[in-house]
Amino acid sequence: MKVHNFSAGPSILPDSTVENTAAAIKNFAGTSLSLMEVSHRSKEFVAVMDEAIALFKELLDIPAGYSVIFVGGGASTQFCMVPYNLMAKKSAYLNTGTWANKAMKEAKLFGEVVEVASSKDTLYNYIPKGYEIPADADYFHITTNNTIYGTEIKHDMDVNVPLVADMSSDIFSRPVDVSKYALIYGGAQKNLAPAGVTFVIVKDELLGKVDRAIPTMLNYQTHIDGESMFNTPPVVPVFAALETLRWIKEQGGVAAMQKMNEEKAAVLYNEIDRNPMFKGTVINEEDRSLMNICFVMTDEYKELEKEFYEFATAKGMSGIKGHRSVGGFRASTYNALPKSSVQALVDCMKEFETMHVK
Ligand code: PLP
Repeated sequence: MKVHNFSAGPSILPDSTVENTAAAIKNFAGTSLSLMEVSHRSKEFVAVMDEAIALFKELLDIPAGYSVIFVGGGASTQFCMVPYNLMAKKSAYLNTGTWANKAMKEAKLFGEVVEVASSKDTLYNYIPKGYEIPADADYFHITTNNTIYGTEIKHDMDVNVPLVADMSSDIFSRPVDVSKYALIYGGAQKNLAPAGVTFVIVKDELLGKVDRAIPTMLNYQTHIDGESMFNTPPVVPVFAALETLRWIKEQGGVAAMQKMNEEKAAVLYNEIDRNPMFKGTVINEEDRSLMNICFVMTDEYKELEKEFYEFATAKGMSGIKGHRSVGGFRASTYNALPKSSVQALVDCMKEFETMHVK
């Protein structure tokens, strides 16, 4: 049976990423050694790192004056690295969910944190708008895609202070105007690679402006100067990231990803809106995520939630259970998920409807 991987992360990667990484784990670049066994300073691996960084910059059209680095620690370490490096006194955060809260908690260790708006009261089912950002904030932090709640900021904001974005779950899903951001970061384990590598895009001129001493490993400048090799990088995830970046390029780049993601999301949201058994959890259409599509059963059919989960799982839908804080279902439709998988889920929903709706 074909299994359709709707997991929220770690999640589906292109077949070529999985196959070529598996092959390199056996025999890396003709060395007859495993990728796991070679020096990160070997010419073969340095070439991988160089191409990965170059392709990362090319695909997102990153302007001059920005550095791209690969580091460890996951996006969660960025929650403290951002304020450590960029926050002198005050920062502003948009509270759109669990990850934004975790980021804010760390920033509070470094100074004053202003929560400019929050959608907490309604379990984060919309993206707040119409707030003011204090002009003296050192930066404004957003989570562009809220993996748990299925909301997404799908445009690049114009704001009055440096803009920092956690793009863990929507990087490479659409073109981004990087010039509007001071810093973008994310864990790789959604649209890029297996867990273990974290990407950071940072505007160079914003670094070196805080007075505090920064531990070496938590200082962005260390990793910029060390070309992401200050310490031993996670070689397997970096290799896999390169394979995914090559795949994105072959597909036509981030504009092609966006088109496909919009098409896939439209197919599933249309079914959620049409089918009387289901309803979306996000209230405004414009806030609906193209990456994590959250839905529940309507009140009339609520008691069939477990049955639908089991029905869909038996038909090969993997990882569709909603996050425990939202319940219901979450279909993650990252770049590598084919349209046919979305169609298979829609077919399940239709079949379930014919079984239960008179
Ligand atoms: N930010 C977002 C938007 C996420 O979805 C996640 C993980 O799912 C994280 C941060 C945390 O990432 P990590 O596990 O790499 O620390």
